[in-house]
Amino acid sequence: MMTESYKVSRAHHPEDRTVIVRGTVIGGDRVVVMAGPCAVESREQVMAAAESVSRSGAKLLRGGAFKPRTSPYAFQGMGEEGLRLLREAGDRFNLGVVTEVMDASQVPMVGEYADMFQIGARNMQNINLLRAVGKTQKPVLLKRGMSATIEEWLCSAEYIAAEGNVNIVLCERGIRTFEPMTRYTLDLSAIPVVRSMTSLPVIVDPSHATGSRAYVMPMARAAVAVGANGLIVEVHPSPETALCDGSQALTTDDFEHLMNDIRSMAPIVGMRLS
Ligand code: PEP
Ligand code: MN
Repeated sequence: MMTESYKVSRAHHPEDRTVIVRGTVIGGDRVVVMAGPCAVESREQVMAAAESVSRSGAKLLRGGAFKPRTSPYAFQGMGEEGLRLLREAGDRFNLGVVTEVMDASQVPMVGEYADMFQIGARNMQNINLLRAVGKTQKPVLLKRGMSATIEEWLCSAEYIAAEGNVNIVLCERGIRTFEPMTRYTLDLSAIPVVRSMTSLPVIVDPSHATGSRAYVMPMARAAVAVGANGLIVEVHPSPETALCDGSQALTTDDFEHLMNDIRSMAPIVGMRLS
């Protein structure tokens, strides 16, 4: 399916591509960490999260304002007010802002506030959305669909690149397997495979992959060990009160420990924490 003529293929562009998000370079030998709550819940919550993740060394703030929840009755996000709070927190703590855009019609509005569009696993093959972000020059974080092959994932990246936007960062976030003890199964072998097939940066989301706080840190360290260009991690100032994904959120203290681990580990694999 994917050929050497694809813009995202390693054959088409042998050198590693880099994507710059609000001055932070993603790709090459840097490990860039994006962190923050699953969802923006309030001004206090997002400010507390941003302050602590920036102090620990994260470069981007994550947080959903539009949440693709499994149940229609679960918290759906704060919408545009959430985007406003993210922007304010990003500016105040000097963090880039990455947030999910769920539909092509939202691209202009989300683009007004965000430094990077996040396309969620459930939307990896939303072709109109891929084309819409492809028509902008804003960086895109493209998550792997929970049942998507690596080739399908790269074909989705090509939809974005085909429209003229090659500022794409891939994100492995776990795939569905027969194993129920973790939320998904983190496919870490995808990292070296993807890095051989494409020159785009690829990062790992150990939070959604495992679903449990206790498993996030070991899998985050493992992701760095296999050569990921970064991580996106859920961190909440008080996980027990989180409106979304509290059981997988790191506390701010956990996150600081993780960053210290990564800072010392990355050089072993020829990388450095950005
Ligand atoms: C998220 O990062 O908030 C999210 C919903 O993740 P995913 O699309 O990987 O399920
Ligand atoms: Mn989440």
